[in-house]
Amino acid sequence: MPVLAVTKERRAGETRVAVTPDATRKLIALGLDVVVEAGAGLAAAAIDADYEAAGARLVRSAPEAVAGADILLKVRGPTEEEIGALKAGAIVVGLLNPFQDRETMEALARAGATVFAMELVPRITRAQVMDALSSQANLAGYRSVIEAAEVYGRALPMMMTAAGTVAAAKVFVMGAGVAGLQAIATARRLGAVVTATDVRPAAKEQVESLGAKFVAVEDEEFKAAETAAGYAKPMSEAYQAKQAALVGEHIKKQDIVVTTALIPGRLAPKLVSAEHVASMKAGSVLVDLAVEQGGNVVGARTGEIVEAGGVKIVGVPNLPGRVAADASALYARNLTAFVGLLIKDGALAPDFDDEILQAALVAKDGAIVHALLKPV
Ligand code: NAD
Repeated sequence: MPVLAVTKERRAGETRVAVTPDATRKLIALGLDVVVEAGAGLAAAAIDADYEAAGARLVRSAPEAVAGADILLKVRGPTEEEIGALKAGAIVVGLLNPFQDRETMEALARAGATVFAMELVPRITRAQVMDALSSQANLAGYRSVIEAAEVYGRALPMMMTAAGTVAAAKVFVMGAGVAGLQAIATARRLGAVVTATDVRPAAKEQVESLGAKFVAVEDEEFKAAETAAGYAKPMSEAYQAKQAALVGEHIKKQDIVVTTALIPGRLAPKLVSAEHVASMKAGSVLVDLAVEQGGNVVGARTGEIVEAGGVKIVGVPNLPGRVAADASALYARNLTAFVGLLIKDGALAPDFDDEILQAALVAKDGAIVHALLKPV
């Protein structure tokens, strides 16, 4: 029976766990022997007794869980100790950040691991259930508004009271992908007046269907800004200048700005300049979801709330980790579906011709094999 290991996440601030007790049951039903490091799910409200009740075997340490495992499931990259304990040919799957964390990819390759990065799963219909970027971005979008509400010294909904009226907060969401759309929905539920922008024309209808107003430079470049994969292209300097002028007019009237703009494989585009921040009213709040990819807001710093002339710029890393129980449950479902591609009739049988496995494969047989990661 193939052995599947789950260990505690040890990267700073990581509260999620790769497999929940519920997912344990599904993995066992696939024919796997599931080994869990004691305490692995504690920060995500998944306790050892629940893993045991689901049929997992509990062990005391990460190396104990990893040694002998055919598959190791992680949220983030494994530790050196875990890599050291892996048997050659073991499969490692996680949100491994392969383009930035080359060191771990190389260590895993040297250990002879077969490595799959969940970020590289293609966004085709069959792989939707495995789309960890979306499952986590959705929760990040939700949480970004909660973070903003926490720091904002006013209420979001309009309130008419005997003592006077509280105005509804004006929320502007920049980047209306998975995270941005959930931020819009959350801000609307809290009673804010919401506007949003994006460079992809498809975003307009989605924004409007959530009851928010779309604000964007809708020129010829905008009409062609979406790649075949559904992502944004980097925009020209001329477009960026027009966008900055539009943002400049709009942002000074906003109370809360949530930025989520990303371009795959590149640093996040800078959408909010220091002048934009300076034009905002005291007490306004910006939450930069792209802070770990270089940031959309000039001055944002990871893990900090930067004060600039009475305006707060919030740079919370790992927002899904602040909704750890739900983020883990959804991610564990993504992983369980992915593991389904590695197992056939209870035996380990990855089909390396499957387009999903091909796209997600980073390393195999001692070498980095992904086309975009191979040493030149
Ligand atoms: P993302 O995280 O790469 O980027 C977030 C958003 O930022 C995107 O909407 C992007 O257009 C926007 N952006 C980039 N540069 C910008 C700029 N200069 N100004 C303003 N906005 C900018 O994207 P994502 O959230 O992962 O999703 C992108 C698209 O893919 C969405 O349409 C989403 O619905 C779609 N999607 C499809 C599938 C599927 O078919 N399986 C799965 C997930 C997402």
